[in-house]
Amino acid sequence: MGKTVTVSMSMELLEAIFEGARRLYPRETILLLRGRKHKETILVKELVVPPLATYGAGFANIPLHMLPIDFSITGTVHSHPSGNWSLQKWISTTSLGAYS
Ligand SMILES: [Zn+2]
Repeated sequence: MGKTVTVSMSMELLEAIFEGARRLYPRETILLLRGRKHKETILVKELVVPPLATYGAGFANIPLHMLPIDFSITGTVHSHPSGNWSLQKWISTTSLGAYS
């Protein structure tokens, strides 16, 4: 098993992710997370809407070759909507990807 990394963000940011996902329903969402990494903690400070992303029913895609080099991007957030608007349920079904 690999190292454990903690991802931290404000509740306000988490709610913004949730609201964006709700507005895209039933399509999936994908966003970039801007922040900084310190030791084994990633502190997310901002959301970035990826340019030319596509949001579909059953997929979301970022054209990676179109992204500028930006070392402040620390990860992504991606949803698989279930239709359940409970924030707790959403957290458990949403993936956070961290770049190291
Ligand atoms: Zn997906």
